[in-house]
Amino acid sequence: MYRSDSQPTLFDDQAPWEADSAAEQLVASVVLPTGPKQTYSYLVPESLSQAVEPGRRVRVPFGHGNRSVIGYCVEVGYRSAERKLKSVAGVVDERSLLSGSMLRLTRWMADYYLCDWGQVLEAVVPAAVREQAGTRLTTLLSVPPETRARLDELKLSAKQAAVVRTLLESPRPLSAQELARAGCTQAPIAALRRKGVLAAETRRLARDAEDDKTVHPREDDHVLNADQQQALDTILHSLESSRHETVLLHGITGSGKTEVYIRAIQEVVRYGRQAIVLVPEISLTPQTRQRFQARFGNVAVLHSHLSDADRHRHWQRIARGDVSVVVGARSAVFAPVPHLGLIVLDEEHESSFKQETAPRYHARDVALRRASEERVPLVLGSATPALESYERARRGEYRLVEMPRRVFDRPLPEVLTVDLRHGDRSRETRGVISRQLHQAMNMALADGGQVILLLNRRGFSTHIQCQHCGEVLRCPHCEIAMTHHRAGNVTICHYCDFQTPAPRACPHCHAPGMHYGGTGTQKLEAEVRARFPDYRTMRMDTDTMQGPGSHERALAAFRSGEVQILLGTQMIAKGLDFPAVTLVGVINADTALHLPDFRAAERTCQLLVQVAGRTGRGNQPGRVLVQTFNPDHVAIRAAASHDYRAFANLELPVREALAYPPFASMARLVVRGPVETVAGGFAEHLAERLRHELAVRRVTARVLGPAPAPIAKLRGLFRFQIQAQAADGVALRAALAAAVADVKPPEHVQWIVDVDPLDMM
Ligand code: ADP
Ligand code: ZN
Repeated sequence: MYRSDSQPTLFDDQAPWEADSAAEQLVASVVLPTGPKQTYSYLVPESLSQAVEPGRRVRVPFGHGNRSVIGYCVEVGYRSAERKLKSVAGVVDERSLLSGSMLRLTRWMADYYLCDWGQVLEAVVPAAVREQAGTRLTTLLSVPPETRARLDELKLSAKQAAVVRTLLESPRPLSAQELARAGCTQAPIAALRRKGVLAAETRRLARDAEDDKTVHPREDDHVLNADQQQALDTILHSLESSRHETVLLHGITGSGKTEVYIRAIQEVVRYGRQAIVLVPEISLTPQTRQRFQARFGNVAVLHSHLSDADRHRHWQRIARGDVSVVVGARSAVFAPVPHLGLIVLDEEHESSFKQETAPRYHARDVALRRASEERVPLVLGSATPALESYERARRGEYRLVEMPRRVFDRPLPEVLTVDLRHGDRSRETRGVISRQLHQAMNMALADGGQVILLLNRRGFSTHIQCQHCGEVLRCPHCEIAMTHHRAGNVTICHYCDFQTPAPRACPHCHAPGMHYGGTGTQKLEAEVRARFPDYRTMRMDTDTMQGPGSHERALAAFRSGEVQILLGTQMIAKGLDFPAVTLVGVINADTALHLPDFRAAERTCQLLVQVAGRTGRGNQPGRVLVQTFNPDHVAIRAAASHDYRAFANLELPVREALAYPPFASMARLVVRGPVETVAGGFAEHLAERLRHELAVRRVTARVLGPAPAPIAKLRGLFRFQIQAQAADGVALRAALAAAVADVKPPEHVQWIVDVDPLDMM
C-alpha cells in the first residue's frame, strides 16, 4: 500500500499488501540505479519506519559481500516475508524525490522504452539533486527542555552561560558559525556539548544562494485576434473540463502561438496550479526567457548552462510549489511541480525532444502520459507538426486548432525556387550563390534589410577526391567522407572528430592533385565576403558557436543590425524573430532529401517552412529563394506554397502503404562491435529471436535485417541494424522485450534497442 498517497500499487501482478497479520513485516521494494533489472525487498527496521517512503533513496547491503549501495525505494508495505530479508541500513533523502504519480511515470517509461527502471529514475532526478549540490551538512545546536529545567544546578562559566543564553533567546537552533557571529567562542560550546548540556542535530542546509535579483520589465497582454482567441478558448475548455485532452495548435510561423500559451498559463496560475513549457534547447534564448519572465513573476528557466547548485535550488523551489511556470528543454517534462495544471510543448516536431541515449524517451510521449495521468491538457504547437501528431489530430485523438494567418495579417513571404539543374555555369555564377540569389541579396541589402543564408553543412570542402584514382578521402574509423576545415588546414570526420592534416597527394595511389569539392559553411562565408565586401557577415554553426554565450552574443549582433548577413546551419532556421530580415536564401534544399530515412521528405519540408518563417516578420514583406535540384519534389513544392497540409496529405498515404509511423509502431535494434563478423552474427541471433517471438505471439510485423546500418562503421566499430514495424505497438514491444530478455552479447559487442526511433542512421 502506498503511504504517500492513495494511488494503486505500481505492480499489477501483486495483490495489495495488507497489515492484518502479526507475522507481516514492513518491507521496502528497492530499485538499484545500475545492475540487474528487478526490484529487491528489504526489511525496514523500526527505527527507520517513519523515514523510509516511496521516492526516497535508501542505503542497502547488496550481494554476497553486503556492499553498501544506494537505491530508490519505490514501494513500502506490510508483507509476510517468504525468506529472511536483509535490512535497510539508512535513508539518504530528507524528503521524497518522486511522487507516486512520477514513480508510475518512470515505471511506464521503463516498460515502454524497454530499459531499466533504475536508469529511468537516474534520468528523471537530476544529478545535481541527487548530489544535493550547493548544500552542506550543518550541525544545529539548541538547549533541550530537560536541561532548561535544571539550568540553575549546572555550574557554568561566564562564557558557557553566554552561549546558553544566546541559544535560549533564539527562536530556532543555531549553527556554531551563527553562534560565533553572536560573539560566542568555540571552546565553551565544545565544553557544553561534552557535558551533554546542548542538543545537536545534523541537517542539510543550502549554502547562501545568490538569488536572482534581476527585475524583469513587465509586459502587457496583447489583444488577441480571432484565431488566437479561438485557440485559447479550446484550451480553456479542456482546462475547465478537468480531464486530459491534447490540443494540437497548428499555427504558421508568426501567427502568435506563444501569446496563446501565455494566456492559457495565466488561467492555470490563477487556479494555483503550475505549468510546464517545453521548448527545444536551441530556443531557450534570452528572448524566449524574457517573454515568460515579463509575464509571470516566478518562472524557473532550466537551461543547460545552469550550475549544479542552481539546478538543485530550482528543483527544490519547483517541488515546494514556489514556481508557477517551468520553461525548459526535454528533461523539464520531469519537473516536480506539485499541482500540474498544463503542459505546453512548442515546436513539437523538433527531433531534439527525443533523447538519443538510454532511456531513449520522447518528451512528447512522456508529456502525453504525464498529462493524461494527472488529468490536465497537453498543448502541442508547431507550424509544421510531426506527421505522427498531424495524423492523430485527423483521427480525432487530438483536438486540432489551426492558426493560418500571421498577426496583423502580415503577408507570408513569397517563396521562389531556383532550379539548379539549368544553372548557367558562367564566370559570375562560380560558387554556390546563383545569379538570382545574388541579385536578390543585392536588392535586400541596398534597401537596408538583413539576409539569412541557410546551408546545412559545416566545414570548407565537404568532398575530397583523388583526380587520378577517384578515391574519396574517408575517416579510417567511420568510413565517412572527411570534411576540409580551413582553420588549421585539417580534414575532420564529422562523426567522430578524427583529424588529419589535409593531404596534397592521394593516400591510396599517391598521385598528386587532390580535388577539394563541395561547399560547407566556411566556403560559403568566403564566397559571401568576396561578393559583398561592403556588408558584415557572420557565420553560425557548431564550429563558431563553441563558448558559453556565443550563440546569444551572435544573435544580439544580428539583432542590433551590426551584422547584415547571417549564414549558418539549421541552428539559424529555428524560432528566431528578427523583424528586419527581408530575404532568406536556402543554398541547397536537397542536402537532407535523399538520406536513407523515411522522414527525409518531412524533415526537408519542415526545415524549409521554418527557415522561410524567419522573414517578413516586421513591417517589410519578406522573400525566400530556395536553390534546389528537385524543384518538383512534394516537400519543396509544399514549402514554397506555405502549404504544410498539402504535404501531409500527399505524404501520409505513402507512409500508410509502407506501414511506417504513424500507421505502425517501429523499433530499431543496433548492434556494434570491433569485429564485423562477430557483431553481424549477434545481430543475426537477435533478429532470429525477435522473429521467433513475433511468430509465437502471432503478431503481424515486418522485420528488416540485420543489415549494415547506413553508417556502417563508426569510431572503429561495425554497426548492424534490425528494424521492426507492426500495427500493434503493444504486441511488438512485448515480443521485443521477450526477445532481448537475458541475451548475452559476445565480448566487446554492444547493442541498443530504440523504441519509436527518430535516428535512422
Ligand atoms: P509564433 O510563435 O506563432 O511564431 P509569436 O508568438 O512569436 O508567433 O508571435 C509573433 C510576434 O507577434 C511576437 O513578436 C508577438 O509579440 C506578436 N504578437 C502575438 N500576438 C499578438 C497580438 N494579438 N497582437 C499584437 N502582436 C502580437
Ligand atoms: Zn570518424
